[in-house]
Amino acid sequence: MNVVFKRKKLHYLGFVICFVIMVQFIIPNPLMLGTVSPNGFTTVEAQSGFEWIWDEYQGAPGALAYDDVLHPGWGATLGPYHNFQEINEHLTALTTAFSDYISVQTIGLSFQSRTIRCATVTAPGDSTGRLGILLVAHHHGREVITIENALYILDYLMANRADPHISYILQNFVIYLIPTLNPDSLFEVYVNPWHRKNLRPVDEDSDGLLDEEPAQDVNGNYWVEGNEGTGVYEGYDHDGDAITGEDLVGGVDLNRNYLVAWDDGINSAHSAAYHGTAPFSEPETQTMRNFVQPRASELVFAMSLHSGIECMFAPWFNNGSHTPHEALFAQVAVAIEDASGYERFDSGGTPGIWDDWMYGIMGIPAITLETFGRNSASIWDYFNPNADRVISYCERVWQAFRAMIEVLIDYHELPPPAPPIPPLDPLMLALIIGATLVVVITAVLLVRRIRRKRAQ
Ligand SMILES: [Zn+2]
Repeated sequence: MNVVFKRKKLHYLGFVICFVIMVQFIIPNPLMLGTVSPNGFTTVEAQSGFEWIWDEYQGAPGALAYDDVLHPGWGATLGPYHNFQEINEHLTALTTAFSDYISVQTIGLSFQSRTIRCATVTAPGDSTGRLGILLVAHHHGREVITIENALYILDYLMANRADPHISYILQNFVIYLIPTLNPDSLFEVYVNPWHRKNLRPVDEDSDGLLDEEPAQDVNGNYWVEGNEGTGVYEGYDHDGDAITGEDLVGGVDLNRNYLVAWDDGINSAHSAAYHGTAPFSEPETQTMRNFVQPRASELVFAMSLHSGIECMFAPWFNNGSHTPHEALFAQVAVAIEDASGYERFDSGGTPGIWDDWMYGIMGIPAITLETFGRNSASIWDYFNPNADRVISYCERVWQAFRAMIEVLIDYHELPPPAPPIPPLDPLMLALIIGATLVVVITAVLLVRRIRRKRAQ
């Protein structure tokens, strides 16, 4: 064993190491290290300390007895669903893990001064000229599934940001996402799963007192008996009128508090759809207005998530007629139905709602997606799936959201994405590395032999 041979070996080893390092830089993630998200895409590993929403729901319980939200162990935590604190923690974790892509702003305060936050998602770099999309969830307290739907979309975009088409979407759009417009309601819905409105105290039973007869599970059966038509619910008879639960905590129906056809809304505080004292009387709808107005020229489409039924609605909601943008709404409806099975239902007869204001006053085409509903005697179950089905519903809502974006890509004639580069499979990569090494080493040996010959 001589010194020259050892040195040669070291040279070759150095070559191999340099080459492998170079390949790592040229082809990102060449061995496709990662996990598989629910849609089957290979995703980049989550950053340390961040947990995807689908991992949070691993092993989540199915049906529980009685009203799930009143079940011991759920209560204020809302079980595997995100309560107010957990929503904020998730948003903060996203901004920490994916700070190049996501920022979160407080855009206003609720009636009880809780923060209403909006996540802005787009690819790194100059976002000038990118098209804006607004997604708002959770106008209505008990429709808690819509918060999960929204958080899933954020996670999905980040988990798949290296996928060529998701990357294309993030480079061409700025997605504004408000997971809850009604954060106060999360502090009432686990006491009264019927709760729909915000928490502004109103006098439902016209006796001069505010919120004096809340609904409560008095008999301890994890269930609040109630009737939305009569406005009578299980509770204590505080005002001695032999009726219970007739003056609930809150409120005003935020999705009847917008400007278009507001006058036609229900003016009785007793109603679950009470429209408030004036258009935009509520801090939550004012927050929406203040957020949208300066971005009206940037936003090209918007979607609001509700639950209680499974379908899609488009303006006009107040009179059911079609708008001048019906061709676009129809395209979006067909794409959403094809991708996710949510069928378009006729709208009409619903005054003062968000979509009509967004479209009619702000000039932004806007639709409602009703993401989940079932005919259950349990009011919680009526609006929210069992926890073990949350992720499959989130996946469905993502498909609907994505279908809407695909229509917008065509509608706004965005340049087509660059053709995807097919990922190299590990065997092909090994062959390329091997062949290249042989060529390089042969060339080096040849050069050395020529030099040696010349030197002789
Ligand atoms: Zn709703």
